[in-house]
Amino acid sequence: MNYRHAYHAGNFADVLKHLVIIALTEAMLRKDKAFCYLDTHAGAGIYDLRAAAPQKSKEYAAGVAKLWEQPNTPALVKKYLDIIAKLNNGTNALNLYPGSPYFVKNFLRKQDRMVLTELHEEEYALLKKSFPHYQQIGIHHLDGYQALKAFLPPPERRGIVLIDPPYEQPDELMQLVSTLTTICKRWETGVFAVWYPIKEGRSIERFHAALRQRIDRPMLALELSIYPPTLTTHLNGCGMVIINPPYQLDTEISGFLPWLWEVLSPAREGRYEFGALSA
Ligand code: SAM
Repeated sequence: MNYRHAYHAGNFADVLKHLVIIALTEAMLRKDKAFCYLDTHAGAGIYDLRAAAPQKSKEYAAGVAKLWEQPNTPALVKKYLDIIAKLNNGTNALNLYPGSPYFVKNFLRKQDRMVLTELHEEEYALLKKSFPHYQQIGIHHLDGYQALKAFLPPPERRGIVLIDPPYEQPDELMQLVSTLTTICKRWETGVFAVWYPIKEGRSIERFHAALRQRIDRPMLALELSIYPPTLTTHLNGCGMVIINPPYQLDTEISGFLPWLWEVLSPAREGRYEFGALSA
C-alpha cells in the first residue's frame, strides 16, 4: 500500500468527487427517514495543504485553489466552498482541505449515521483524529471491500456508498464489477458512487459495458479531464458511476460540470461528459 492521498488532496478529481458526494447527500435529506453513508476507502478525513506532500505535488493548485478564486459559482459549488471555508475557520486561507467523510459529516442529522473504513494504518490513525467524539460515526481499520460485505445492507435501508480505491491492484476495476453485482442484489435501492481514474480509454469502455451487462439498475456516468489525453505526467481524467442516482441528479450535474471544466481547464484541454449508463 504505497498510495497516500495527501499528495492528491484537493486536486481536480477530488473536486469532482466531492461535489457529487454533496449532491447525493443532499438528496438523502429530502426525506426525514435516516440514511447511512459508507465510505469504503475513507482516507485521513482532513488534509493540511501546507504539509510536505501537497506542497511537493501542488495538485490542489490545479483543483480547489482555482475554485477558491471564483467570485460567482454555481449553487452546489458554493456549498462545497462554504464547507471548506468553515473548516478553515471562515478565513480566506485555504490551509485545510476536507476529505469525503468530512463533507458528508456536515449534513448529518441526529438520525443519520456514517461508517468509515480505511486500511492504511497511519491514514486510519489520522481519520480517527479527524472525527473524535462523534457517536454517529463508526471508524474501522478494515479492508473496504470487506466492509461492503460486513455493513450492507444497512438497517436504515437508505443510504450512499462511496467506493474510492487507489486502484493499486491490476484489474481492480473489473473485479469491482463482480463485487457490485453481488452487493446490488443484496441491497437493490442503495446509492453507490464509484470513482475511477481514466488512464486508458478502452479499459473504461470495458468497465461500463460490464456494468451495463451485469447490473440491472439505473446508472449514470460522468467524466472530467483537464489535460490532453497524450499527457503522461499527470492523471488526465477521472470519472464516476452512480448506481441508483437520485431524482434530478443529472440536472444537478449539468448545473456545475460545464462550469467546472471551464474553470479548471482555461485552455479548454480535456473534456467533460455525463449521461445514463443503463442499457
Ligand atoms: N475517499 C477519500 C476522499 O475523497 O477524501 C480519499 C480516499 S483515497 C483515494 C484511497 C484511500 O484508500 C487511501 O487512504 C488508502 O490508504 C486507502 N486504502 C487502500 N487500500 C484500501 C483497502 N483495501 N481498504 C480500505 N482502504 C484502502
